Amino acid sequence: MRKTIKDKEQNDYVIFMTMYVIGHKSPDTDSICASIAYADLKRQLGEEEEVKAARSGDINDETSFILERFNVEAPETLPGCDGRQIILVDHNEETQREDSIKDDEVIEILDHHKINLSTSTAIRVVTEPLGSTCTIIADMYMYNDAELSKDMAGILLGAILSDTVIFKSPITTETDRIVAEQLATIAGIDDIEQFGIEIFKAKSSWSEYSTRDIITMDYKDFDMNGKKIGIGQVETVDPTELNDRKDDFISDMKSIAEDKDLDLIMVLITDIMKGSCLAFVVGRESDAIEKAFGKPVEYDQIYLEGVLSRKKQVVPPLEKVFSE
Ligand code: MG
Ligand code: MG
Ligand code: MG
Repeated sequence: MRKTIKDKEQNDYVIFMTMYVIGHKSPDTDSICASIAYADLKRQLGEEEEVKAARSGDINDETSFILERFNVEAPETLPGCDGRQIILVDHNEETQREDSIKDDEVIEILDHHKINLSTSTAIRVVTEPLGSTCTIIADMYMYNDAELSKDMAGILLGAILSDTVIFKSPITTETDRIVAEQLATIAGIDDIEQFGIEIFKAKSSWSEYSTRDIITMDYKDFDMNGKKIGIGQVETVDPTELNDRKDDFISDMKSIAEDKDLDLIMVLITDIMKGSCLAFVVGRESDAIEKAFGKPVEYDQIYLEGVLSRKKQVVPPLEKVFSE
């Protein structure tokens, strides 16, 4: 966006503002890859003079694996400066937004989650009920006939496989599968499934991380009818080691709940091979879990058969309980 100002002699001066594309806090692969690719697409479409990808938090091992595989540089952290224009990708809720972003800096939102948003001005909001933000972006490249490089196609594919848990998650749509096939061809990936497993294996070396770090790697806060709910998720091909560290998880969850004054905190240890979760649960509103899933929480945990998606299978039943 170009801003023009006039001096005393009424000459026009054009000021180029920097536009940043940024995903949610504790960024996952979809947030990082979406910010990189959407900045690339925006530059190609020539809408903006300077468009940069940014991030809100550290890059996780899974994302690093994908970026290194395709030789793509990670985004910088969002600089604090005047005249920023911000495009939010892969989230819209204020609770998940980088703290320093002011409401009037947000000019556009591109997302695939439920909307919980109020804005002070008119902005562009694009959401699609697809498996990942990167599916929407891949679609936009194709629709606009933009140049989709092998590297961009590769990271977009990686993000789709990550968010859809290699198409096993119920958030997966036919569009995700079709787009993934097209991206795989461009990226030179012959076996999509195998690439997906490599991605999930890349983030399964947990031993070097504290349980607190593991909780915050993919963690989101939700406001459910005035109740503050935090939900962390770990997706893994082998949950044994994580399940064994339950006591540490519970004590860290208690301290996070206290620090953030949460009514409820859950950590979903998701076994992507079995397609189920072991959820650890802490907080004064733990009873809501029993109402939402029809079985009791015992010893601070509950096993959720067939549950892979926080967005589609955990958040909606909980919201329903809190709305009653
Ligand atoms: Mg995300
Ligand atoms: Mg996403
Ligand atoms: Mg995810």
